[in-house]
Amino acid sequence: MKISDVNISGVDASATALARDCFRPVALYDPDVTPCEVDLSDNTNLWGVPPAAQLAIGSAESDAVSRYPAPYAAELKTRIASYLQVEPSMVVTGCGSDDVLDSAIRAFGNPGDRVVMPNPSFGMIPVFARINGLEPVFVPLGRGGDLSPAAFDAAGARITYLCSPNNPTGGALRRADIDEIIRSARGLVILDQAYAEFSTDSLTDLVKAHDNLLMTRTMSKAFGLAGLRIGYGIGSPALVREVEKSRGPYKVNALAARAAISALTGDLAWVADRIADMKTNRARFLAALEAMGLAPLPTDANFVCVPVGDARRVGESMRMRGVAVRVFEDLPGIGGALRITIGPWEMMDQCLSSLAESLS
Ligand code: PMP
Repeated sequence: MKISDVNISGVDASATALARDCFRPVALYDPDVTPCEVDLSDNTNLWGVPPAAQLAIGSAESDAVSRYPAPYAAELKTRIASYLQVEPSMVVTGCGSDDVLDSAIRAFGNPGDRVVMPNPSFGMIPVFARINGLEPVFVPLGRGGDLSPAAFDAAGARITYLCSPNNPTGGALRRADIDEIIRSARGLVILDQAYAEFSTDSLTDLVKAHDNLLMTRTMSKAFGLAGLRIGYGIGSPALVREVEKSRGPYKVNALAARAAISALTGDLAWVADRIADMKTNRARFLAALEAMGLAPLPTDANFVCVPVGDARRVGESMRMRGVAVRVFEDLPGIGGALRITIGPWEMMDQCLSSLAESLS
């Protein structure tokens, strides 16, 4: 069949009709990327690139460009394993943790199965569920970050997704809830820990205790390497092998792998110092928001979620004043909110001024 044989007007519509049915409700990811003087919208490390990683990229040999990288990033896996004190056979890497999440859903869910997740939580999960033919179903996240294990059980899902600290709210989930949900789950449980480094409770011990658990992490946040796209998952060797089959070879490019290995070797002190700076600024920023009469949600991440009326208008007004934040027009149980990344204080100061002006 040629595209022109499909009886729908317009080339785009014809091609759409040829695609998998489950792609129909899926839109391309389309954040506002208009350059802005202060960008606090994406939860990356606003202090920049860690120095050893930067050096590794600059000094890469030509082989790192002209030859294929290691198919499953073996050396990087070894470094990640020693960073988290697990065996290398328990690690799978990916082109960002997005890639690991997508691959895991494909590996452990059949088309038609459900993926259950809290609401609100990470917005890419329903997309990964749908493009793999699965149906996302939602359980409300309590205002205190509590979850109902019974509601998760009742969803009858093949895959369970949890995120702690949770994006976009920022708070950590309760360990007792996580534990109970893992115990009663029918299939794979994914525990997304993209923001783990900013939180006090690391949860890596859970992976050793539960064979059905995949914990995902990223080098895009605390490690300042978002542009290089490096994420990973930790789980039992058998589970990780299935994710690797689904992911396929060569997903971490050679330059990214080099930089990540250098960061995990030579930048741990730099990363720890930036996390300490972030925590200082986060406490100061939260206090300033409260002094303005706002009620930011409790956070264990490098961002703060602040409920505001008419979030879209406030966000647009802040953008006009040179500060980009992530706008949520209507989060379940919360309403309109702004998600603001914490960075160096000059940025936070500019954010507070633009927020005050935009609210008045
Ligand atoms: N999980 C969560 C909760 C996130 O917020 C993000 C980034 N927005 C990711 C996963 C994906 O991060 P990356 O693909 O850069 O590793």
